[in-house]
Amino acid sequence: MTGDEDTRSPYREVADDHPEFEDLLATNRAYVDTHPPLAPVVEPVPRLVVLTCIDARIDPVAALGLPVGYAQIFRNPGGLATEEAPTALALSLHWFGNGRVVVMHHTDCGLTKLTPERARRRIREGTGADASGLAITAIGDADERLREDVALVRSSPFVRVTVPVIGLMFDVTNGRVAPLLWLRPATTIFRIGCAYASRPIGGGVLFRGVSPSAQMVRNQC
Ligand SMILES: [Zn+2]
Repeated sequence: MTGDEDTRSPYREVADDHPEFEDLLATNRAYVDTHPPLAPVVEPVPRLVVLTCIDARIDPVAALGLPVGYAQIFRNPGGLATEEAPTALALSLHWFGNGRVVVMHHTDCGLTKLTPERARRRIREGTGADASGLAITAIGDADERLREDVALVRSSPFVRVTVPVIGLMFDVTNGRVAPLLWLRPATTIFRIGCAYASRPIGGGVLFRGVSPSAQMVRNQC
C-alpha cells in the first residue's frame, strides 16, 4: 500500500488498461479532492425529484442549481412519465421522502424527429436483434407532450395531492427553463374518458371548480 492510496474506499481498480474511459477517470481523480464530505443521512435528505430527458445538452444540476444530496434525477428518452417512471416516482416520493416533482422536457428533442418504426429498424439493422418490443415513443407537439406528462404525474395514485408538480421546458439554445404547466398541489386531476377535470381536495363536485391549468390539459385529447 502506497502512502497516497485512499484507505477510506473499499473499491480498488479492477484493471490497469481502460483507455476508452481514461479521460473520465482522470477527471474524477481531481474531483475527489474537491468533493465535500457527505453528511450523515438524515431523512428526508432528497427534497426534489426531477424527471428529464437523456439529451446530453441538459445539465439539470447546473440548470436548476441542485446541491449534492438534494435531488434525485431520473432520466429517460424524452423525460416521459411513462414506462418505468411511475415506479421511480413512487420510490422517490415515498421511500426517499422527496417533496416536489419537476418534469423537465426540452426544445429540439430527438423524439420529435424520429418515428418508432424507423428507430426500431435501425437498431435491428445495427445489431441483428429483434427490436420490435422496445418501448420507443415519438413526441409530436413538445408543449402538449409536457402538459400531458405533468398531468400523468399529477393524477398518479402514487403522487400525493400535497406534492407540488411543475412542468418546465428547457431551451437548449440558452439554458433557460420556462414553466409550462403547474398543477396546484391541492388539486386532484381525474381522467374521464378523453377529458380531464379537477376538484378541490375534501369536497366539490366533479367538473366544478376546474382550475385553469387543468383546463389546459383537458384540451389535449
Ligand atoms: Zn430529448
